[in-house]
Amino acid sequence: MMRPTLRCPCDLNYCQTVFHYDAPPPGEMCFDVGAQAYQRAYLRCALCRHWYSENPLDLSRLYESAYVSATYGDSFRETFQRILALPIERSDNAARVARVLQFARAYLTPGKVPTLLDIGSGLGVFPYRMKEAGWDCTVLDPDARAVEHAATVVCVRAIRGDFLMINPEQVGTFDLITFNKVLEHVVDPVGMLQRATGFLRPNGRVYIELPDGEVASHHGSQREEFFIEHHHVFSAGSLNMLAERAGFLTLSVERLHEPSGKFTLCAFLALKSILPAAL
Ligand SMILES: [Zn+2]
Repeated sequence: MMRPTLRCPCDLNYCQTVFHYDAPPPGEMCFDVGAQAYQRAYLRCALCRHWYSENPLDLSRLYESAYVSATYGDSFRETFQRILALPIERSDNAARVARVLQFARAYLTPGKVPTLLDIGSGLGVFPYRMKEAGWDCTVLDPDARAVEHAATVVCVRAIRGDFLMINPEQVGTFDLITFNKVLEHVVDPVGMLQRATGFLRPNGRVYIELPDGEVASHHGSQREEFFIEHHHVFSAGSLNMLAERAGFLTLSVERLHEPSGKFTLCAFLALKSILPAAL
């Protein structure tokens, strides 16, 4: 199994085991561990305060179906409609859309239809609301049901695939690329985020949301930020390292305690290479 990496100079040399698990925390998806015993841990880097999952279980096929079933149930449409119907003050997504639209007003060219690429779209509530706000939205997801749902219910351009394998010639370039709670699920988040550099328009931006380990860890090991499907849990410091190593400059970082209860770090990023001209 590949070890989770942040391509960090500390190279796991300054990590200590902080949380250890021999049973799933309450609320975690039921992941079939086969004949293996459920054993995993979280290590924290003493330098950058990043959290690395130490997990001998094979999660590689999780996103092709099991994760989607466990997270969204068998009815995408019903879950989608239930989330859309949440009052604004209870919706993580409503706050996200407001945040992104406010930020976008400052850098987009007025009068042009802005374009969004949402990576790992899941239920598609975010692109749905962005489409309502006048954006031209494309979503990418590895799961066939998520893509079918995005195309037929969310009614946006939907592509099935792994972002690491897709080329800009296939999908175009965008004013905004979003990774809403996606990068913690991949072994190499730097490699994934770096891919976005090839899909951005010259003045484009990236928006990321990541689980906030610095705050969540004060509430114990059973928090959802530390569930089995996360290879990484971030700190403000490691978010900046992630952006830097992937070729981006962090424009702003915010700590959120979301209506759902999640502790989240969110940030807007710009390409390092275009900044002198853009500012
Ligand atoms: Zn480190």
